[in-house]
Amino acid sequence: MTKFPIQPFINGEYRSATKERRISLVNPANDEVFTEVESAGPAEVNVAIDAAHNAWEQSWRDISPGKRTEILFAIARGIRTRIEELAATEMTNIGKPISDARDEIGLGARIFEYYAGAVTKFGGETIPVWRGGFDFTLRQPMGVVAAIVPWNFPFPIASWKVAPALAAGNAVVLKPASLSPLTALLLGEIAAEAGLPPGVLQVLPGSGSKVGDAIVTHPLIRKVSFTGSTEIGSRIMELASRGIKRVSLELGGKSPNIVFADADLEKAAAQSPGSVFANTGQDCCARTRIFVEKKIFNEFVERFTSATRELVVDDPRKDSTQLGPMVSQGQRASVEEYIQSARTSGRKVSYGGERIFDRGAYLQPAIICEPELHDKVWREEIFGPVACIRPFENEEQLIHEVNDSPYGLSGSVWTKDLSRALRICRKVESGVLSVNCNNSVHVEAPFGGFKMSGIGRDLGMHALEGYTELKNIYIAD
Ligand code: NAP
Repeated sequence: MTKFPIQPFINGEYRSATKERRISLVNPANDEVFTEVESAGPAEVNVAIDAAHNAWEQSWRDISPGKRTEILFAIARGIRTRIEELAATEMTNIGKPISDARDEIGLGARIFEYYAGAVTKFGGETIPVWRGGFDFTLRQPMGVVAAIVPWNFPFPIASWKVAPALAAGNAVVLKPASLSPLTALLLGEIAAEAGLPPGVLQVLPGSGSKVGDAIVTHPLIRKVSFTGSTEIGSRIMELASRGIKRVSLELGGKSPNIVFADADLEKAAAQSPGSVFANTGQDCCARTRIFVEKKIFNEFVERFTSATRELVVDDPRKDSTQLGPMVSQGQRASVEEYIQSARTSGRKVSYGGERIFDRGAYLQPAIICEPELHDKVWREEIFGPVACIRPFENEEQLIHEVNDSPYGLSGSVWTKDLSRALRICRKVESGVLSVNCNNSVHVEAPFGGFKMSGIGRDLGMHALEGYTELKNIYIAD
């Protein structure tokens, strides 16, 4: 039986935080409480950040790049060794299908490997300044940075903040979402076992409004790297601005999936359900607005619906399961309200949207055909398995409607005409696009949004820039 961590991870060990309330964790596949975690409170936040700053000043800041590389590789090995335990933990905690959970833990390990190698490949430059002499730049660590993460991809997102921040020489305070604290706590333990000095990675489960706010406003926090909703991101930016803290924000999305008549229709229709319903639609990159060229609209909808019917919604413990339950009953209720709002406005829910099984937060994926441009389901991030499909006549109309959104995170274009693909990609206001596929995340490439989808970039070498200060030094002849 899996043993779950139950306390904040501070200074290299689990520490009791008994004065604060406990967080009960419910398995969304059967609605049962399976464990309780002690929440950190303001007192633990202060202790953890002060200790992280000491650990940074006394060891991590000055440790050699080679040693940093060794420790990050050791963390990756630790993750790989415990992949089954981590995957089972994530599955029980948030209902993620076990095969997806394994993939995501493996992705976390790969992220640590990438940044382990990146430590010795990221540096400053020399600049031939006008007056002569010698001018050069240094990329220096910031100090203690905060990583605040959501519940939908807990382990990869924690990894893609913690690994580059450590690689760049910072200490990190990681706050997981209250719904999904477990694999973050295990990451703290794995890092300590891999030789990371105590205090360099602190993991503080607890409520966003109490623990999150206390972390963001602490004077020793130099940067906040946040992934979550646009609403909370905006609040964090406001709080951080008082201390001129650096922020990077990965926020919500309402991404397009654009299908032209000349696309490989079989492939586009077969893969598109995955681009919106994977992770039971709880994906910031979900391509929830599907734009289909008018002349193939009916054929595409038919093919898309039949591919959606094939998706296996079932117990996340089964290897065959593609979609597990939603993260909670509350999240399912919020999605159901959106589906109901479409029905009330007279829109056609052409497939799904019904509850399945007596227990658990399961929801059949739903397809809404031809909503109006002003409908809530078309404009707002639903964060559940709901796809909206509309026809378009020409490129001008398409681009106008695609960009008529406060968000700009991700998207796909399906066409065999590469010139058209490039033309559309240039005009779509999104940070990440894919042509004839659905892939948004590559460990080696920048990931982030335009407009209200965020500021800054995770992943790739670009992320390292965001965890350093740039210093210029000039030496006279
Ligand atoms: P959320 O409610 O914004 O929470 C995200 C994190 O912020 C959680 O750890 C939360 O803690 C914490 N938090 C809440 N209030 C806070 C405050 N006042 N100060 C500091 N921290 C606070 O988002 P979510 O419901 O977990 O995740 C879903 C959202 O994340 C969606 O909008 C999705 O699009 C977005 N997302 C974006 C990306 C991306 O890369 N662009 C990736 C994944 C998800 P508690 O859990 O304790 O409230």
